[in-house]
Amino acid sequence: MGSKAKWVYAFGEGDGSNKLLLGGKGANLCEMTRIGLPVPPGFVVTTEACLAYLKEGRLPEGLMDEVRTNLAAVEKAVGRRFGAAHDPLLVSVRSGSAISMPGMMDTILNLGLNEKTLVGLIEATRNPRFGWDAYRRMIQLFGKVALGVPDEPFDRAMTLLKKEAGVQQDVDLSAEHLQALSRRFLDVVREQTGQPFPDDPWQQLETAIAAVFRSWNGRRAIDYRRQFKITPQMANGTAANICTMVFGNMGADSGTGVGFTRNPGTGERAVYGEYLTNAQGEDVVAGIRTPKPIAAMAQEMPSLHSQLMDLAAKLESHYREVQDFEFTIERGRLWALQTRSGKMNAQAMVRTSVEMEREGLIDRRRALLRVPPEMLEQLLVPRLDPAFKGQPLATGLPASPGAASGMIVFDADTAELRGRAGEKVILVREETKPEDIHGFFAAQGVLTSRGGKTSHAAVVARGMGKPCVSGAESIVVDVHERVAQVGPAVLKEGQIITIDGSTGAVYFGEVPTVEVEFSHDMATLLAWADEVARLGVRANADAPNDAQRAREYGAQGIGLCRTERMFNQIDRLPIMQDMILADTREERIAALERLRPIQTEDFRGIFKAMDGLPVTIRLLDPPMHEFLPTAAQLELEIAHLRHFRETVDAMREAPETLKLLNPRLHHQYQESMGPVVATLTEFRDKHLEDPVINRKTDTLKKVKSLSEVNPMLGHRGVRLGITYPEIYEMQIRAILNAAADCVREGVDVQPEIMVPQLATVEELKRIKSYVDRIHAEVERSSGVKVPYKFGSMIEVVRACLRAARLAETAEFFSFGTNDLTQATFSFSREDAENKFLPSYYEAGILRDNPFEVLDEKGVGELMKLAIGAGRGRRPELKVGICGEHGGDPTSIRFCHHAGLNYVSCSGPRVPIARLAAAHAKLREAEYLAAE
Ligand code: PEP
Ligand code: MG
Repeated sequence: MGSKAKWVYAFGEGDGSNKLLLGGKGANLCEMTRIGLPVPPGFVVTTEACLAYLKEGRLPEGLMDEVRTNLAAVEKAVGRRFGAAHDPLLVSVRSGSAISMPGMMDTILNLGLNEKTLVGLIEATRNPRFGWDAYRRMIQLFGKVALGVPDEPFDRAMTLLKKEAGVQQDVDLSAEHLQALSRRFLDVVREQTGQPFPDDPWQQLETAIAAVFRSWNGRRAIDYRRQFKITPQMANGTAANICTMVFGNMGADSGTGVGFTRNPGTGERAVYGEYLTNAQGEDVVAGIRTPKPIAAMAQEMPSLHSQLMDLAAKLESHYREVQDFEFTIERGRLWALQTRSGKMNAQAMVRTSVEMEREGLIDRRRALLRVPPEMLEQLLVPRLDPAFKGQPLATGLPASPGAASGMIVFDADTAELRGRAGEKVILVREETKPEDIHGFFAAQGVLTSRGGKTSHAAVVARGMGKPCVSGAESIVVDVHERVAQVGPAVLKEGQIITIDGSTGAVYFGEVPTVEVEFSHDMATLLAWADEVARLGVRANADAPNDAQRAREYGAQGIGLCRTERMFNQIDRLPIMQDMILADTREERIAALERLRPIQTEDFRGIFKAMDGLPVTIRLLDPPMHEFLPTAAQLELEIAHLRHFRETVDAMREAPETLKLLNPRLHHQYQESMGPVVATLTEFRDKHLEDPVINRKTDTLKKVKSLSEVNPMLGHRGVRLGITYPEIYEMQIRAILNAAADCVREGVDVQPEIMVPQLATVEELKRIKSYVDRIHAEVERSSGVKVPYKFGSMIEVVRACLRAARLAETAEFFSFGTNDLTQATFSFSREDAENKFLPSYYEAGILRDNPFEVLDEKGVGELMKLAIGAGRGRRPELKVGICGEHGGDPTSIRFCHHAGLNYVSCSGPRVPIARLAAAHAKLREAEYLAAE
């Protein structure tokens, strides 16, 4: 860049929309000046100057000349001069990049002070204490930021002085004390840098600009950019804002404060904030004095209060957004020092969106787009009371959002028992398995010491909308002793804990929570979202009450009902196990016939809850062994039972043994031992343990025969339906019978039967033949027309490639992107997340977890291929997604562009998905431009 470049913009000159060049703070200072708000005069040194400085190691040529010209204009405007002996002008140099990085970069205040200008300042303010205080603050801040002097020697000098003066607080120091302190601070700088403190105001200014620029590459700032993924396109370098100092600590007619144009906690339309009279900004932050609410200003400074209300109103109507602003009152004059968009909680964001639209301040598009979809999560799950400030006992992964308290239980059966008794419980396990499902139903939340965000515990809890903290590795769970060790602390069963699945924190005792607020405003905003969105939103739900809740969240149908979850309930699992253990087809059918009425009832409940909406039911998917205990567990139980027999024998012989050992004791206990021995003999003679051992041994054999090297790719899904047709037949019959019952009752049912893990069209045709046959039978026996659709999950690569042929039989496709992602990457999710994915992010090989954010370039391409081929053969083919990606806003945007008809996600994510679907539509052009 040549010398013609423009490095400096006066506040009255800069383009308020050019944040990349002027930084957020600088652009807003320019904008406020332009619209006539009272901003202290000043100018911005651009981010380009910062980049040039960082590249060359010195300020670019001509920059200080521009600074001088601009400062001269400021001097003229305020009628004071920089470096003057009388009433001197002082300035601040503040950092500020395009993206706000609060506290990450440096700022220096009171520049222009030296022993000579200080006399002028004291003379003008007639306040020596104020003057010396400003001076000592400036020496320390400049010393630290510009000259690299650590805080420690300054703090030591301060402590020593307070001790000598016999005072506790900084505010108790007199002008003389502060004068002495300033002198010591000057010595500190000389000792630490080997140079005297720079007295020349111009040298101070130049050094300060360079120091602020350097802070862009400070450790804090770099870490922050990495953490929040701030790229050079978003913010590149910091600007340096040079602004006339105004002081809020010049007496009772001065003050300083911060305000929000609306309440950031509730969204209420009322200026909200705090101020302190006779104070500087730092005092508000340091919390030495308690600030007063802005409303109190109406009494204390009525005219300034009305000026402040006016300022807030102008800011909001100009920016058309809630503003968070800083102000200072210097001797009765109000100054605006900064403004930016106000950060609010979800409730306030939703309410202000709806109200600002109604007030005509923003349009509906803006009302929808200003609320990030993920933010709604805060409102859809119970949260810890925001006032709570306790220290967590342990921290794991935030696996399913929301907070819950309850007593610790270490197994699902106890959870169910205590839950039925009306107690609140948290299920605490090393990890969970499908057979723990009844414990999930009974518990308020789940805590595991192992496993990632997609462990069984996490996925199931999310599906149910219950809080879960997984992988809290500092907790050692001992199920047998029924204790959990966390460092030196021991948690016993029955003790109360609180888990926060939104942060991963675990607390001892009960922490108060704030309940879900599905407000009227939220309903309004989401109704607007539905009007805009092209993509429909369905829910994944496995039980009638989940379906009901999903409907309340605005789901337009069920996109996935995983039928196996129904089999895992405590009254059904034994029947399911009988079915699996059956030696003959007849035995298996008998067990299935016991399950059928239960399934029929479940389906009826779901259909009724979703009256008028489609319900996609997936036929059985997981491998059979998932319904049985593990081989290790069975072996242990069998060993215990065998041991029981030996124990009984030993006990029966106990009297005789005792006689050998000690005849006196034998005599003493002989009588009382008699009945015990008799009972044990009865046990033994009845061979109580034999049938149990036999059944367990049979189960063990079956478990071993069903064991697979890689069950994910094994005997599951449609493969089960082909090898055990009676299982799928039972399910199809249950679905169609339930549908027929509903038709008779006048319920509008729209069942969609879906086949999982499909790879070839022949598989699909085979299952379709069962459906055709059973459908005809059901219609005949029920005497009613039973509507249904038949379709396929697409979660196998071959299915994507054969989509055209599949679409000849399938009326709909639903992408199971959990499995399709595994199949596409050819790595398993559990292994990936627990082992190597973190190193992949670190090395920049993958940016996101492909199991959370859909891999558009790989999995997405396969999806597009399948959709194109499928619709080529059947133009009206309905296409959805039911993997976890269906609830992720980035993936939803992809689904919108790929032409899906709907996304399906867990019930509590439905509102998030509805808003994300609207965003996808509203941001179509942006997405296409970036492609
Ligand atoms: C999927 O694979 O995306 C899916 C929904 O099925 P599941 O997660 O039950 O394997
Ligand atoms: Mg799957």
